[in-house]
Amino acid sequence: MSSFRNLDDLGDDLGDLTGKVALVRVDLNLPMQDGAVTDDTRVRAAMPTILELADKGAKVLLLAHFGRPKGARNSEQSLSMVVGAVQDVLGREVMFVPEVAGEIVAQAVGILGPGDIAILENTRFWPGEEKNDPELARAIAANGDFYVNDAFSAAHRAHATTEGLAHLLPAYAGRSMQAELEALDKALGKPERPVAAVVGGAKVSSKLDVLKHLVSLVDHLIIGGGMANTFLAARGVDVGKSLCEYDLAATVEQILDAADKAGCTVHLPYDVVVAKEFAANPASLRICNVHEVAADEMILDVGPQATEALADVLKTCRTLVWNGPMGAFETEPFDTATVALARTAAALTREGSLVSVAGGGDTVAALNHAGVAGDFSYISTAGGAFLEWMEGRELPGVVALQR
Ligand code: ADP
Ligand code: MG
Repeated sequence: MSSFRNLDDLGDDLGDLTGKVALVRVDLNLPMQDGAVTDDTRVRAAMPTILELADKGAKVLLLAHFGRPKGARNSEQSLSMVVGAVQDVLGREVMFVPEVAGEIVAQAVGILGPGDIAILENTRFWPGEEKNDPELARAIAANGDFYVNDAFSAAHRAHATTEGLAHLLPAYAGRSMQAELEALDKALGKPERPVAAVVGGAKVSSKLDVLKHLVSLVDHLIIGGGMANTFLAARGVDVGKSLCEYDLAATVEQILDAADKAGCTVHLPYDVVVAKEFAANPASLRICNVHEVAADEMILDVGPQATEALADVLKTCRTLVWNGPMGAFETEPFDTATVALARTAAALTREGSLVSVAGGGDTVAALNHAGVAGDFSYISTAGGAFLEWMEGRELPGVVALQR
């Protein structure tokens, strides 16, 4: 039995669901262009939960936020815009209700039959959502019989519809939330050792807390991307014009000390790919030792020798957690190290010798670019929540679902 309540508990707790009203928090913060949804991944993620509840006869009310309307109604951020996309994915008719609480929602519930689905308005139109105002949560709860949270991506926020509602109604993790929690637990909760973490990308200062936590959990910490430049600079390496946060040198030393004490091996690149200008296949491109970077050069990728050594490290590991690309992968050939390491991890996962979990907006894009996202054991599309989980923080939306 898992440590949090999920949809398998519904029958025991509530009996027959026919006609019962489910308030279901999902992620409908869909990317849009010119009023059209450009990617429906998040709807597809929520589909199993929505259809399972509908097929059990519940009236399904979907709660979600869209953008950052800052507590005021505006027509550009109405969730009415995603109704078509949700209908297309579900293959069912979906009603739109322009409120989240009160008489209008009560009337909608009266109209809906068992198994029907409705989307309520953007929860962030109400200031009480982000303040986790108990009054708003009570007003929303008044129209429901039970609450399901299927939005892991919003679980790091204690808002009325991500946390507050869980205290007012019987509360359950939806299927996608459950899959995410189980995969994450497998990767860092009680992982098979040795464990490797790859941390790269550009948002160095915001990821240092992740590193502080990881060194006590993992056997190998592989550092790439802009993150590696900051580490190299802190160690006295001249990184030229590279993306680098020099003022973090003291923090880097603390992390390296903590890693040393915890028996975690930190891997920094010893060869790198550099260029004088940031462009595709620039004339100034060359590969060199980290100690040979010129003052007018930028490190844009991990070098081939280091990449090969890192692949060998992965081959000795049983578990991998990955956030952040190894180089500026959007521009060729600075995708080389990221693609190579991603393909190694994918092959090891296919062979069954590695459990691989990756997350982060650009990381997922990089794995798609390498053509291996489908081979990883689990890909988390929840950027902020995934990073907070990697930091070892308790996510309020998850804590509220615990037994
Ligand atoms: P994620 O979204 O997966 O958490 P980040 O947002 O932290 O990852 O970082 C991704 C960005 O880091 C990418 O746009 C990539 O181009 C950039 N990047 C990686 N390595 C370098 C580098 N050496 N120099 C400059 N940018 C880099
Ligand atoms: Mg990013």
